[in-house]
Amino acid sequence: MEKGFFGEFGGRYVAEVLRRPLEELEAGFAEAMGDESFLAELARLQRDYIGRPTPLLHAANASKELGGAEIYVKQEGLANTGAHKINNAMGQALLAKRLGKTRIIAETGAGQHGVATAAVCARLGLECVVYMGEVDIARQRPNVYYMELYGAEVRPVSSGSRTLKDAVNEALRDWASSFPNTHYLLGSALGPAPFPDMVREFQSVIGREVDSALTERDIHADALVACVGGGSNAIGFFAPFLERSEPRLIGVEAGGRGAGEGNNAVRMTDVGKTGIAQGYKSRFLLDGDGQLLHTHSVSAGLDYPGIGPQLAHLGVSGRLEFRSALDDEALDALKFFARTEGIIFALESAHAGAQAIKLAKELGPGKTLVVNMSGRGDKDIFISAPHLAGDSWVSFLTEEVERLK
Ligand SMILES: *Cc1c(COP(=O)(O)O)cnc(C)c1O
Repeated sequence: MEKGFFGEFGGRYVAEVLRRPLEELEAGFAEAMGDESFLAELARLQRDYIGRPTPLLHAANASKELGGAEIYVKQEGLANTGAHKINNAMGQALLAKRLGKTRIIAETGAGQHGVATAAVCARLGLECVVYMGEVDIARQRPNVYYMELYGAEVRPVSSGSRTLKDAVNEALRDWASSFPNTHYLLGSALGPAPFPDMVREFQSVIGREVDSALTERDIHADALVACVGGGSNAIGFFAPFLERSEPRLIGVEAGGRGAGEGNNAVRMTDVGKTGIAQGYKSRFLLDGDGQLLHTHSVSAGLDYPGIGPQLAHLGVSGRLEFRSALDDEALDALKFFARTEGIIFALESAHAGAQAIKLAKELGPGKTLVVNMSGRGDKDIFISAPHLAGDSWVSFLTEEVERLK
């Protein structure tokens, strides 16, 4: 297979000015991954700063109530900053430091990647600028607050739709002139090579921990389930299992409000098209003019119109199965695991949780599945509470505003 490609997907479709920084990054990454001292420092930070290994919980109550397969939950949500994104942010920031960079730039949509990046920059003493669309800044104020608390500068993007894809373009523009001292810390397993490989490697700690926990406890897993936005938690979770014929690997996309253009972010069915955008070839949701479509999901992290090229390839080749979960199914799954297990899934992860509930019944007793809880749900309180707590939440917010006047 051609370097940087996964079947027909992937590659490096960028302006000439970005070739050098990407080549330098590719070489620096390969060197770092072969250096024991780099890996030892990363492992130390994973343990002491991120809080790894994260636990693998037997969801015994949930499994019993469903009466099907046994469900295990990989609790990435217990990592520092509340989700898996910090695995990649830490890996890349440490690599940037090794390459002599003093400044980090990143894009963020909902703000989760920005928060993880700002946190690791604080820890490693790196300057941090996060590009964020004006629309997203208005919607995601709590994450802007956290990023600024960590000492990052959040730079508003006013071009285009003023959301994630515009933030990516601004970050690339910055990098084209700043790369001698700046690293672009991309947040998911996509973008031009070597980002998809690099992000998978830094996220594969999730899958390696699951693999050894299963071996240690002598558990045979029949299926692994993860939600898929850009695809970083899924590819990291699946990574050690890709070359094996088992377990089944299932990716869950955002089904949103259901079928129809703009109502969901399902890229791996007939609706998604092969195209090239933002530096790589993959499956995208595109309009008639080939522009990225506006999507919808109740979860802020699953609404990107593209998908990582390796996941697209694994979907086409059949190693990976794709499903989708609706907004309401995700909210129901969130409630179910909160009530039965005392854990609150992030809305993104709750899409995987919804599929896990269905699959447990399908597989039946005697089988086992592992679902990746990519994040915890505290961050979603402003989205989930209006859905789940209704009027009491509105009166709480109204009284808070009164109190602050
Ligand atoms: C960002 C995010 C996702 C989606 O991103 P991937 O790259 O697909 O993993 C999923 N879960 C959580 C908790 C997130 O913050």
